[in-house]
Amino acid sequence: MDKTYNPFTTAQEQFDKVAEMLNLDQAMKKMLRNSMREYHFLIPVRMDDGSVEVFRGFRVLHNDARGPGKGGIRFHPQETIDTVRALAMWMTWKCAVVDIPLGGGKGGVICDPHNLSSREQELLCRGWVRQISKNVGPLSDVPAPDVMTNAQHMLWMLDEYETIHGAKYPGFITGKPVGMGGSLGRKEATGYGVIFTVREALKEMGVRPEDTIASVQGFGNVARHAIELYQQIGGGVIAVSCWDQKDNTSYTFRKTDGVSLDELLTITDSFGSIDKNKASDLGYTVLDGSAWIEQEADILIPAALENQINAETVSKMSQRVKLIAEGANGPTTIEADETIKKRNIFLIPDFLANAGGVTCSYFEQVQCNMNYYWTKEETLGKLDEKMTSAFIAVSDLAREKKLYMRDAAYVIAIDRVAKAARYRGWV
Ligand code: GLU
Repeated sequence: MDKTYNPFTTAQEQFDKVAEMLNLDQAMKKMLRNSMREYHFLIPVRMDDGSVEVFRGFRVLHNDARGPGKGGIRFHPQETIDTVRALAMWMTWKCAVVDIPLGGGKGGVICDPHNLSSREQELLCRGWVRQISKNVGPLSDVPAPDVMTNAQHMLWMLDEYETIHGAKYPGFITGKPVGMGGSLGRKEATGYGVIFTVREALKEMGVRPEDTIASVQGFGNVARHAIELYQQIGGGVIAVSCWDQKDNTSYTFRKTDGVSLDELLTITDSFGSIDKNKASDLGYTVLDGSAWIEQEADILIPAALENQINAETVSKMSQRVKLIAEGANGPTTIEADETIKKRNIFLIPDFLANAGGVTCSYFEQVQCNMNYYWTKEETLGKLDEKMTSAFIAVSDLAREKKLYMRDAAYVIAIDRVAKAARYRGWV
């Protein structure tokens, strides 16, 4: 399925449509629909058995008109340069829509960390930095975690960067461990951010969270924290789906009276796969991976990978769905977007819904620069303010100009980036 969709084509098509609406000139369009800089490199790693494996790594800087590039690094066996290009572009719009002074970047390595020992992962992280250390940095392009990378990976990368440059640069990377330059609340930030926007959308729709049921795709950092906060504000979660590393497929776990995060976490391995036999013993119905979208739910939260709501899966979506909050980057294809629009479903687009992570990364940089750290409450309070005001700006524009929420978010973001490029005299 993933082969038939190219996330970069999706990102460019989304951009082109709004660029027309904004009447951008040819030069501006050419610049904003492409990456400004791209790096491809090889990372040799001495494996535990003495052999050498050569990995392919990338870093893409989509645009830095508003500030240094910002965006995560993914470790994924199916990583492609086009995926990284799309993700870098979405980072530019994400930072712009929440109005933080950063541009967009993204990096990746084609690898499956499930099959790498801790030592091999450390060498891969250090190798990634060695290859790109001259082209990233606190004032040029700032990496962070993404799919299958975590705080430990960030710290190894920071350590390598500081060793190469001979000084401490805590602002080089974000998503660091708390106590080692990391920010309290960073772990929760993306998932909580999704729910801050869900809360605001429900307010607008005149629906109480207590009266809603959600179905979630994914069980990683974003999904778990989204579930946590959503349940805290009174919502119920009927199903979660996750990847099963051993079976090389995904499953959906459904419990009609609501899934329990605590219960599921006790039967989830370190790679995030829920044990399906133990889940059935606990009363969960185990269904196939795409079943999450078919559930009788009011809210869908795709919080896994790209292209999951596509022409095929969107037709299976229950009539009850009234809100989709995109926790993942690029979860919806162009065709599926048309269906969502036609059905009048309230959509909170990815680069708005999941902007909590990068917003907290920005707070982390601010704290590193001051060398003074905020409490978790203070950080999450500031995050709530940022996310809520960004959501309101987008939804006000959507209502005022009768725009689809994704297009409204694009109008705000592209306009801010285009203005910055113009002020700088680039185009
Ligand atoms: N990887 C996250 C994202 O896609 C966070 C990026 C960051 O913190 O820089 O938004």
